[in-house]
Amino acid sequence: VRRSLGALLALASALGAACSGDEPRRVHVLLITVDTLRADRVTAEVMPFLHGLAQREGLLVTHAQTPRAKTTPAMASLMTGLYPHEHGVRDLMQPLGLEHATLAERLRDAGWRTEAVIGNFVLRERYAGLARGFGAWSEELPDTSGVPPEDVPQRRARSLTDAGLAATSAAERPWFVWLHYMDPHGIYDAPAEFRRAPAGAPQPLVVRDPAHPRRHVAEYNVPDEARLADGRIDTAQVAALYDAEARYVDRELERLVGPLVARGDTLVVISADHGESLGEHDYWFEHGRDVYEACNRVPLLIVFPTAERAGTRGRRVDADVSLCDLAPTILEYLRLAPLASPPPGSPGSPGAGDAVRGRSRLAALLGSDERRAAVFCEKVERTAQDRVLQLKAVRLGDWKLVRRYTQLVGPGKHELVALGDELYDLASDPREERDLAGSAPAGAPLERLRAELARFIAADTALGEHAADLARRHAALDAEARRILGGLGY
Ligand SMILES: [Zn+2]
Repeated sequence: VRRSLGALLALASALGAACSGDEPRRVHVLLITVDTLRADRVTAEVMPFLHGLAQREGLLVTHAQTPRAKTTPAMASLMTGLYPHEHGVRDLMQPLGLEHATLAERLRDAGWRTEAVIGNFVLRERYAGLARGFGAWSEELPDTSGVPPEDVPQRRARSLTDAGLAATSAAERPWFVWLHYMDPHGIYDAPAEFRRAPAGAPQPLVVRDPAHPRRHVAEYNVPDEARLADGRIDTAQVAALYDAEARYVDRELERLVGPLVARGDTLVVISADHGESLGEHDYWFEHGRDVYEACNRVPLLIVFPTAERAGTRGRRVDADVSLCDLAPTILEYLRLAPLASPPPGSPGSPGAGDAVRGRSRLAALLGSDERRAAVFCEKVERTAQDRVLQLKAVRLGDWKLVRRYTQLVGPGKHELVALGDELYDLASDPREERDLAGSAPAGAPLERLRAELARFIAADTALGEHAADLARRHAALDAEARRILGGLGY
């Protein structure tokens, strides 16, 4: 009995569980989110530093997912450990409510020095509400040749890295620094030295099905140099220019992260708020209008401090992880208490023990727990654009189930109607081109997917009201916020 108890304690300790008597791990924490960075760009060709770091020192998570492919909801989920139906941020320009505790607040209260530097306009405090808990918060956006079509200012990677180097240089006590890079976001205009000509002939954009209700081309993100002489868009050139932005960020990350990894006293977590659709499902050069992998799968690389790096160095793990899981996972690793549940009565606060929310995936990442655990994402819309108003999806390993909803609006009528399901096997069909809903193969865990999706949908008690709620909140925005949202196509 004594031996098994000892083994259990050793295991719990190794996993960082907050046993009584265990002191917090007082290491530095560097959280980097790169706006609009696709998971599949962490390659030797596009991001040689991150790729090499994953191979030599880090743990690369191949099945990480954002709950919503829009900056503000995604970052609110990362900071609170809650899905959007609980934290209530369903769109841009909706600040996080004060009732939700954040990772920064928890670390500040535990003695960490906290600092954030953000490069995306929509993360400014008045629009996103994520600054609390940070002792220092920089939202200066010095680059005025900014994000189209409204020329929204931003902070480019070089300037952001300089700020990050300053924020991570002091070491009198542990720090938590969050940096949000903006560059891969459109318009794709990286410095010339990072551009590579695409291999092969131009690939003019061909809309496969012009009448398809979900096709969308975000022309405003296409630089002039990606236009052919006849005016058509060369999609190979656009993709190459997008890659150049990722290459630029990669070079800057090397400057910042390289020395910290060598020093070995920092937990480094690098991810993205969402990806970018570069033609998948006829959705071009943008994100947020669907729940497919191009936008919803995100890169996730974790480099542990030297003391815990041995078992994770160079490993790839396919455990299911949501951005909602990052705060609980980081807190468990640091041996700090998890974030408090939202108070009863707040949006989506759980009635029973059936809440759908982030949870620590530390043991799954370290290989001592089940790798499969349902992760969820959604798309919400305030207009009946494209007929599809809401999408809800669940992924379990390489199986993904998507449900589409529309809303019938009439006199006194707000009825949400499910249009149908889509089922994809991402292992054999990573671009989600073969919908198997009508002919699910025997190996598909369809019953479990359906049950998990039903749980996720039931937890969103306001699902039928999203369109009206979003329209109401949009009408209440100030003129500047409305101008920016309108310019972005919302
Ligand atoms: Zn974003």
